[in-house]
Amino acid sequence: MKTVKGTRDLLPEDTAIFQAIEQRAFAHFAKYGFHEIRTPIFEQTQLFARGIGEGTDIVNKEMYTFEDRGGRSVTLRPEMTAAVCRAVAQHNLVQGDDPVRLLYTGPTFRYERPQAGRYRQFYQLGAEVFGSDDPLIDAETIEALITFLEPFELPNLTLVLNSVGDHTDRPRYLAYLRATLADRVDQLCGDCKVRIDKNVLRVLDCKNPTCQAQMTDLETIDAFWSDENRQHFEAVKQALDGYGIQYTLNPRLVRGLDYYTKTAFELLSGDLGAQSAVMGGGRYDGLVKMVGGPNVPGFGWAVGLDRLVSIIAKYQNIQPSRPDLFFVYGERSWLDADLPFIRDLRRAGLSVAYDSRCGSFKSQFKRADKYGAAFVAVIGEAEQDAQTIQLKNMATGEQTTVARAGLVAHIREASHA
Ligand code: AMP
Repeated sequence: MKTVKGTRDLLPEDTAIFQAIEQRAFAHFAKYGFHEIRTPIFEQTQLFARGIGEGTDIVNKEMYTFEDRGGRSVTLRPEMTAAVCRAVAQHNLVQGDDPVRLLYTGPTFRYERPQAGRYRQFYQLGAEVFGSDDPLIDAETIEALITFLEPFELPNLTLVLNSVGDHTDRPRYLAYLRATLADRVDQLCGDCKVRIDKNVLRVLDCKNPTCQAQMTDLETIDAFWSDENRQHFEAVKQALDGYGIQYTLNPRLVRGLDYYTKTAFELLSGDLGAQSAVMGGGRYDGLVKMVGGPNVPGFGWAVGLDRLVSIIAKYQNIQPSRPDLFFVYGERSWLDADLPFIRDLRRAGLSVAYDSRCGSFKSQFKRADKYGAAFVAVIGEAEQDAQTIQLKNMATGEQTTVARAGLVAHIREASHA
């Protein structure tokens, strides 16, 4: 039996990087006041249909939707923002005007055509801020993301920024697009013909070169911004400039979900080929209300962890953890007698391994090497008699005899030398 098409197992060399990202995320975003939220993996279908938008590819073609045994239509979450908004509404999390900052990570599901960097089960790490439409929230939440990624030292990342307007200006842009594209409908692909009526912004996203050729002379949304939205966007850019964050403006960036208002952005990587978006996000001021909550503004983003992990693997050597210490015994009975000692070493915080077969020294050393142990503790006849340890530092080759009681301190000291 094999994994289902579009899904994969994450093996230790992958999960080591996932863990490094997640550990850093919780520590880093705590400095900005983010706390973790965990929502269910499936929700009522209506939540996503309404929240993400009936005319989007996600809702039309990509959701894993099924009836449960009670006849309810449920959907495996294709993204998490709508679910987090549902939770904010359900638990009345925003009170007064204090922003609420939530962080999440977990699997998401979309029935897309699998290819490199595109899976049917993929993982997202996301941050959402509710309760304020201050442009500083947009800028700071983007800044938090950029500084989160800093230690991974990833080159070739570009932050692309736009404002997609809102109900005050976007309808005029949509009307303009519909009218202009209606004259060119014969030149558009079948999908785009439908999109003109259902979700005309998506036409801008179409990868079909013939469609793209029809877009080159179209006005972009910036020509339609209301004064208020223009000012909001200016303030976001100013704050990003203040933080020293570089970005590229792309007035054609529209994103694949309907709920965005004002700021929208993506982080693109030159290391990913066709699926170049590492993450995406933006402001979604109407979404909490749309899923039945109060009218609180929101801003957030989601990183595609599968893609981030693949880039990090290229530039950083993050490996599954290795043993601090590997025991090599002359006789199996000496290992059996040492089990409480080994337990105490683990209690003291060391990662300890051994080869229970206790074969030749050579074969045991071979396994210590394979595991990448930092130190090998050899218990030969002399050491067993004297209850000492012959300790070999595998990095330097240095060997010393140490007392059992001093073993932990010795390893700690040598590891930090
Ligand atoms: P979205 O919710 O569409 O803005 O997606 C946010 C991020 O999730 C994207 O920028 C990708 O990095 C990642 N992502 C989206 N769909 C997939 C997929 N099918 N497989 C892997 N990663 C994905």
